[in-house]
Amino acid sequence: MEPADRETATGLPPGIAAAREELTPMLSQYADLCAAHEDALVLFQVGDFYEAFCEAAETVARVCEVTLTERSDSTGDYPMAGIPIDNAAPYLESLLDAGYRVALGDQVEDAEQASGLVDRAVTEVITPGTVVEDDLLESGTTNYVAAVAAEGDGGESDTPGASDRRVGLAAVDVSTGECLVTAGDRDAVAGELDRIAPAELIAGPDAPAFEPSDAERGWTTHDYDADAFDRRTATERLKPYLPAPERRFDADAELRAAGAVIAYAEYTQGDDGPLSYVTRIRRYDPRDRLRLDAAAQRSLELFENRGLGASDTLFDALDETNCALGRRCLERWLRRPLVDADAIRSRHDAVGELADRSLAREGVADALSTAYDLERLVSRVSRGRADARDLRSLHRTLAVVPELKATLAGAGGEAGASSEPGGADEGPALPRTDHLRDLRDRLDELTEVRELIDGAVAVDPPQEITEGGVIREGFDGDLDDLRATEREGREWVAALEASERERTGIDSLSVGHNQVHGYYIEVTDANVEKVPDDYRRRQTLKNSERYVTPELKEREEEIVGAAERADALEYDLFVDVRERVAAETERIQGLADALAELDALTSLAAVAVARDYVRPELREGPDADVGGAVDPAGGVEIEGGRHPVVERAEESFVPNDADLPRGSVAVITGPNMSGKSTYMRSVALAVVLAQTGSFVPAQAATLPVFDRLFTRVGASDDIAGGQSTFMREMSELTEILHDAGADSLVLLDEVGRGTATTDGRAIARAAAEFLHDELGATALFATHYHGLTDLADERERVFNLHFTATREDGDVTFLHRVVPGASSSSYGVEVAELAGVPGPVVDRARDLVAAEEADRRGNAGGAGSEGGTDDGATGGADPDDADRDGDASLREFLAEEASGERDEGGPEAGDPSIETPTGSDPEPPANETGEAGAAAGAPSDLTADLRDLDLARMTPIEALNALHDLQSRVDDDG
Ligand code: ADP
Repeated sequence: MEPADRETATGLPPGIAAAREELTPMLSQYADLCAAHEDALVLFQVGDFYEAFCEAAETVARVCEVTLTERSDSTGDYPMAGIPIDNAAPYLESLLDAGYRVALGDQVEDAEQASGLVDRAVTEVITPGTVVEDDLLESGTTNYVAAVAAEGDGGESDTPGASDRRVGLAAVDVSTGECLVTAGDRDAVAGELDRIAPAELIAGPDAPAFEPSDAERGWTTHDYDADAFDRRTATERLKPYLPAPERRFDADAELRAAGAVIAYAEYTQGDDGPLSYVTRIRRYDPRDRLRLDAAAQRSLELFENRGLGASDTLFDALDETNCALGRRCLERWLRRPLVDADAIRSRHDAVGELADRSLAREGVADALSTAYDLERLVSRVSRGRADARDLRSLHRTLAVVPELKATLAGAGGEAGASSEPGGADEGPALPRTDHLRDLRDRLDELTEVRELIDGAVAVDPPQEITEGGVIREGFDGDLDDLRATEREGREWVAALEASERERTGIDSLSVGHNQVHGYYIEVTDANVEKVPDDYRRRQTLKNSERYVTPELKEREEEIVGAAERADALEYDLFVDVRERVAAETERIQGLADALAELDALTSLAAVAVARDYVRPELREGPDADVGGAVDPAGGVEIEGGRHPVVERAEESFVPNDADLPRGSVAVITGPNMSGKSTYMRSVALAVVLAQTGSFVPAQAATLPVFDRLFTRVGASDDIAGGQSTFMREMSELTEILHDAGADSLVLLDEVGRGTATTDGRAIARAAAEFLHDELGATALFATHYHGLTDLADERERVFNLHFTATREDGDVTFLHRVVPGASSSSYGVEVAELAGVPGPVVDRARDLVAAEEADRRGNAGGAGSEGGTDDGATGGADPDDADRDGDASLREFLAEEASGERDEGGPEAGDPSIETPTGSDPEPPANETGEAGAAAGAPSDLTADLRDLDLARMTPIEALNALHDLQSRVDDDG
């Protein structure tokens, strides 16, 4: 996005060398509008075009790629550029994309009736966050403008602890009237902003800066009139929306953010006063929802997939909605999964019932697929922007409601007893669950509104409501009389040709009409002699003459008069009908909410049936007292779990179980591409799905309710602009280690890989220990640092899982099956070969691995299975890294780490699917003997480093260099 050079759009049109009083009246009017909308680009209606003048014209010409013309008048010569009003959308979109706000200066009086200059006013300011034009909005997504205000009216930002100040956040979707308000500390608000992803953010005077954590979903931030954030102004501003606003908000900052965002929304909608369709200002507490920050949303690919299939996201996998309302609702739900166990169960009940009742479900889906975007329609109605077609769309949507209610209620009689998902039950579908019953009750039929529209508005009305033809016959007696007069007049004219031919005996006589002269009788020159006396000549053509008669003239006036009056009356009637519909805004919005929810639930049910999802069993809500202590019954238990997105792409997806006691840390090892990430994400996605109200892709699942979900993916998987990836990885890790608790689920995927092996390993281990010892979080930790697997022996609730592969004739096949215990080998060499690393390198690496393994076995034979031959004191433990760190405790740790390395084959010995060199090692590690390092000398740290080489991610040159490095170390040691 190009930054807007707003000065080109300010004040007196720049680039014109005239004094104010020398401007033509029109330019002067333009200059006034520009001055009143300094931070916007004013587009000025001249007939069928929106024009910009002077430098603004250059901007419009450049951004919209339209011709720059020159205008000359008494003011002088100046540039001008215009866009056609009836096809303005693509041009407006270009301007918004380029960062401009656009003020539409419309003609607000009839040009024909104006005496002198037509009056113009800014009717709307279009900004990225407040567009309401359907052409400029994506259907089925929300479009918010948000405001942030900090607690305390300034002056506090320098005080200690200022970063803990509460920040208020308010967001409004002007196209639908939805308004959300919340508050929290800076981090919480940053997280909410990431979730809401507003298109625009306006910042209060002392509000902290909020940068989008994801540039692609970013917002533009700008300051707005500081006064709008003032407590008193905000209170007054909110009064039409909420009684006693000062008592409605917990935090002052909420009130001020809400007041400001509403002020801004009003400003963009032409300052006509309160926005009557903003009827639902909803306060919420982020803690009432599963917290899922932008990093988690990103790495779980909930809404975006950075990989190949850009549409392979969880949202796409779930989205079987039938209308824009449902789509937006599902998106909201998925961005904010629930944490209240009863509320979650209630959604599960409804999904379960809709899944069972396939006939009813399909009936509901069919009916909903004809629903229009009621939220946006009603907001247009209420803004006075709806045309007759909009009202007809509204009517068609309302007409669906009785049908829906009947479908939900069944044709009568009791519900069938079947509860097989997607089973053969096709009986009547009386809602059995409270949730569906409640929804059904909320389906307001709005009969009066439906009948009003149907009786008033033509079935296929023209686009323009000023043109006539929008009101149905029979709705208004006066209108019908006028239309009758008009019709009779036209019929009389239509019959005139025949009667005049007869009267005059001129067979070629014809009756016609044109814009300038109105009706006429045309006679060819040859017949002019026969023209009767009452004919008055109107016009002479090449071969004929045109006449009128007094009676024709009279009839014409009658027709035109009646038509004009009818059009005007129709307009008034239409506006009146629209206002009567607008008076029901709140009820219509209530219906829209119910339809949206019903659609989202239907979609979840359809997915559950089509993809064989199962209803998750919920354990009771999070136990606040857990505080690090572990409730062994409280964990994640998934049988045959699948990844909802990957399973759609993989022909034969291998389901896996997960058994994660509360507060446990699963260390997951295995070669690259063996399925570690997919597995971890399946678990997290099951949690997200379950708490969204969805069923989950598994054979059976019992889940606790988590309150936060964190994910951190190793730096090499995630390229973010600006910050060094490792720095970013660490700051995200920091956030997790600060905020995670006993009710958090944490996914760490290859943490620490963004730096030197030694450091990375140390960080990974320390983080795992902290998660376990201090936070009591439930965590899945995928790592290629095999040394981490011995944590299982040292920590009560740490256990190992690994992924297996088979080798046949030197080829590796991943089984994608998770098994208990630690992985014995990284399979790196085989993966390297699969990846195309040249043969000699692979061969040499194999030799090296064999040598290391032999070496290791030799040492192990000498010093017992737990090894310890590689005590740091021998100097074998990567002296480079130790020197660099210069840290005694880290060195000690590394020594331990190195001694643990050799033992990781142990737990896996029972896995028959793998032939491994260490598979015969029957003893689990006994770490208390780890210091028995007398038989020093073997460079087993070398083994660790060799194993840790991530060959699949190396270029051949990098691999060669690494090998060379290792080789020289072998030589040194030897
Ligand atoms: P890792 O994290 O171990 O490098 P991934 O989880 O990224 O591996 O998995 C690599 C690929 O393997 C995935 O893109 C997917 O195509 C496939 N895969 C992973 N898990 C499974 C599974 N359970 N069944 C089938 N294919 C799988």
